[in-house]
Amino acid sequence: MKITFVEPSSIFEGFSFGWLNKLPLLGTLYLGTILKNRGHDVKIIKDDGKRIDPEQLDCDILCISSMTSTTRRGYAIADAFKQKYPERKVLIGGVHATFFPNEALSHADYVVVGEADPIIDTVVSRIKNKKLKSKLIKGKPCEDLDSLPFPDLSLIQNIKLPLPRTPISTSRGCPFNCSFCSVTKMFGRKYRFRTPENVVEEILSRKNKRIFFYDDNFAASRERTKKILKGMLEYNITVPWAAQARLDVAYDDELMNLFSKTNCNYLCVGIESINPKSLKEYNKHQDVGLIKKAIRKLHDYGIKIHGMFVFGADNDDKKIIDKTIEFCDEMNIDSPQFSILTPLPGSDLYHKLDAKGRIFTKNWDLYDLNHVVFRPKRMSAYDLQMKVVEAIKKNYWLTKRGFAFLFQNFKTCISIIKKGLKWWYDHRAYLRFLEKIDKRGTRNKNIVNNLN
Ligand code: SF4
Repeated sequence: MKITFVEPSSIFEGFSFGWLNKLPLLGTLYLGTILKNRGHDVKIIKDDGKRIDPEQLDCDILCISSMTSTTRRGYAIADAFKQKYPERKVLIGGVHATFFPNEALSHADYVVVGEADPIIDTVVSRIKNKKLKSKLIKGKPCEDLDSLPFPDLSLIQNIKLPLPRTPISTSRGCPFNCSFCSVTKMFGRKYRFRTPENVVEEILSRKNKRIFFYDDNFAASRERTKKILKGMLEYNITVPWAAQARLDVAYDDELMNLFSKTNCNYLCVGIESINPKSLKEYNKHQDVGLIKKAIRKLHDYGIKIHGMFVFGADNDDKKIIDKTIEFCDEMNIDSPQFSILTPLPGSDLYHKLDAKGRIFTKNWDLYDLNHVVFRPKRMSAYDLQMKVVEAIKKNYWLTKRGFAFLFQNFKTCISIIKKGLKWWYDHRAYLRFLEKIDKRGTRNKNIVNNLN
C-alpha cells in the first residue's frame, strides 16, 4: 500500500536554536521503516508550514503524528486530504492523540493511543483487508527496542541529507516524574533501552560526522550509558555528539571522562529553575548549589551547555526571571533557552491547573512553551509573557551570545533573523490578547479557544 506520514509543523515561530530545529522526529521514521521493510511504499513529509496540496500526499493511508502544538495543523492536513479523497483512510497518532483520542477521531478514520511500533503492521494489514473494526486502536509499549529497525532517514522526502546531526534514540521512558512533563505518561516510568551493542551498530552504520542522542534522558541509567560510550571507544568513534540529560551526570567522574573521551560537545540540560521552591514544585529533585557545581564541571570537561529554564511556577514572581538572566551570565551558560510553563495534556500540571479553572485557552497551537495559556499565581499572564520575551531579547539581541549563535549558523543567518522578527511580531499580538485576558480577571474563567 502507499502510505504517507506527515510530521506537522507549529503554526507559531518558535525561538530558533539552529540545528536542533532542523532534525525530524523519530517516531514516524520508526513506523515508516517498519512498514517499508514489510513491502509498503512509504514516504514521510516534514511539514514546513506552507500549503500542502492533498495530491502531493499521494497515498492510500495518510498517517499523521503530532504533538499538542502541532495537532491543529495536523487536523487541517487530515481534513483537506479527506475532503479530496473521502474513500481513503486517515490514521492519527502521537502524544496529543493519546491524551485526546476522541478529539483526534473527529479528523481521522482511526486513532492510535500510545506507542504504535508493535502494532502498526497489523493495523495497516487490517485496513487493507477492510477488517479493522475499532476506530480507537490501543497501542502498546515496545518492550524490545533492539527489535526495531534503524530509522531509514531517506524516507523523508523534503529534507536534505546528511542531516546536521544524526538523530539516534537509545531508550524510551524516564524514571523521573517532573510535574510539567508528559514523557512518563506517554512512555511510562519504566526505563526501556536498547543494548549498547545495538546502539553502537547503528552509529557505525551512519556516515554522519555528528550525532544527537534524542533520548529524553540519555543517562537515566548511567551504567548503560557508560557501556554505550565504552563501545564507541572500542570502535574509535569520537564524532562530536550531543544529548539531553539531567545535570546529575556531572557528579559521576567515570561518566564525565567517557563523555570527554568520546567527544560530547553539547549537553541540553533541564535546569528548569534557580528558585528552590519551584524546583520542588516541579518535582525536579535538583538543588541550586549542586546545579552550579555540575555546570562548572561540565565546562571543565569542555562540554557546552544548552540550559533549559521554565518560568511560571506558582512560586515564581517576575524577579526570578531577572535573577535567572544574571545566573546564566555568572555561570556562562552557552545557550540559555527560556520557556513558559505549559500545561501539556497528560502532565500532572495539566490536571492540576485544569481542575482549578486556571487554563484560559485550549487553542493547542499556543501549547509550544512560548505562550502563556494559564493564569500564573504571582504575576499576570501578560507580565510572564513579557518578561520571558525580554529575557530572550536580552540574551540574544545584539549580544555576544547572539552573535556567536549567528556565526555558528552562518549559512542560515538571514533566515534566523527573519524568523526572529516573525517571532517578535507574533508575540506583540499575543501580548495584546493577554492584556485583555488579565483585565477580565479571575472571575471570568471561560476558556478562550481562539485569539480575539
Ligand atoms: S523532564 Fe526530563 S527528567 Fe523530568 S520526567 Fe520529563 S524526561 Fe524525565
